[in-house]
Amino acid sequence: MTVRVRIAPSPTGNLHIGTARTAVFNWLFARHHGGQFILRVEDTDTERSRPEFTQNITEGLAWLGLNWDEGPFFQSERLDLYQQAIQTLLNKGLAYRAYDTPEELDAMRTAQKAKNQAPRYDNRHRDLTEAQQRAFEAEGRQAVIRFKIDDGRTIQWHDLVRGPMTWQGSDLGGDMVVARASSVDRIGQPLYNLAVVVDDMDMNITHVIRGEDHIANTAKQILLYEALGGQVPNFAHTPLILNQTGQKLSKRDGVTSISDFQKMGFTATALANYMTLLGWSAPDSEELFTLEDAAQKFSFDRVNKAGAKFDWDKLDWLNSQYLHDIPATELVNLLMPYWQAAGFSFDPVADQDWLTTLAGLLGPGLTRLPDAVDQGRFFFSELMDYSEAANKQLHQAGVADLLQVTLEKLQSGSALDSLDTGKTLVNEVVKAQGIKKGLMMKSMRAALMGDMKGPDLMESWLILHQRQFDVPRLKAALEQAQS
Ligand code: GLU
Repeated sequence: MTVRVRIAPSPTGNLHIGTARTAVFNWLFARHHGGQFILRVEDTDTERSRPEFTQNITEGLAWLGLNWDEGPFFQSERLDLYQQAIQTLLNKGLAYRAYDTPEELDAMRTAQKAKNQAPRYDNRHRDLTEAQQRAFEAEGRQAVIRFKIDDGRTIQWHDLVRGPMTWQGSDLGGDMVVARASSVDRIGQPLYNLAVVVDDMDMNITHVIRGEDHIANTAKQILLYEALGGQVPNFAHTPLILNQTGQKLSKRDGVTSISDFQKMGFTATALANYMTLLGWSAPDSEELFTLEDAAQKFSFDRVNKAGAKFDWDKLDWLNSQYLHDIPATELVNLLMPYWQAAGFSFDPVADQDWLTTLAGLLGPGLTRLPDAVDQGRFFFSELMDYSEAANKQLHQAGVADLLQVTLEKLQSGSALDSLDTGKTLVNEVVKAQGIKKGLMMKSMRAALMGDMKGPDLMESWLILHQRQFDVPRLKAALEQAQS
């Protein structure tokens, strides 16, 4: 059997972290088994579905590296298939038209509530004759099509995450609506449960891997598979993602869509790695890996039943691990958009060389990509302000002189093209002035960076020298020191 799985997002919002995590598990399972991962866009809800959400979803999946083998397929283009299936159910006497008005359905629920019963459809229109149906239509009523649910049925499956599952037909709310806005001559808008089953059958899906909020649907869908003569697939219901207080992660928790995480400066690799750990753990307890590595180790045996708590510290930690490791030539491309957005002026092509050096310099200190904005700010303009501490440093005894001497050396062409030549230059000044090296280094930091903290001094200086910013900064610092 070739494993075939799918992710079936509804484009009624941006790609949600929960959907993305489900996509990750599908992808890992498919890749582990050398199977296929299919993308199907469930856009039958025409009022809430939007093309921009479809785009956000496909871009988000692609950005995370969750490449799909088939699709995207769009349910809105497959309505004929669903209508044919509904016709089959009608022909077999397994579905029927029901004409209840919203008021009648409300009254039914109110009466059930009064008797402390769970709300359900009481199947009252199961046996209408065609004449009765037409009479309802003559009153201006529209039909829904309901699939018959046998209250006496017990529905069972072995869930790959949750183990043996059992549902009673009587707990499914009565005969279920599979299409709206229908009439004797017309099958209207098909609904989710029906469309999913038809598609999963048509696409030969072998494993349905989705969030545990779909468990009740699974019981209904198994009945539809049987009614349509389909082979029931395997099911795996993945745990919900919870916030710190143990509630389902929702919009109220702030960031929930993948594009938001992307904007906050998480890398695709770190986020995909983190999502893999939301509900799964590797047999060797390894926590840092690529999706490809995780795929080799992935199995549902190690997926938890309990909800997975979202942990920002862990995500930050993973992200920093990637940013510390990534080659500067790649990191620079991730950082440039943030520098651009911060209004720093540079030419991505002509300045490629020093920008890459800068990326390499900043990388080990980054947790999220935008950290490189503040940490990199002073490389982008010729002069900068002095912090209070830097200003104080510049006014220490002997600083003006050491700045003067350094400036003269630079202006007379002292080499400064490597850490070695930089060291030589510093040592010469220290020696000539008879000062402590600490005074020299601190003062150069204040003069060149305008602050007492920041990235490595000598490496920063090399970049500033390459940009020809060091001479003007030393001149400005000298003026400051003498003021
Ligand atoms: N469109 C459904 C959702 O977004 C898909 C559920 C399923 O995978 O069957 O939740």
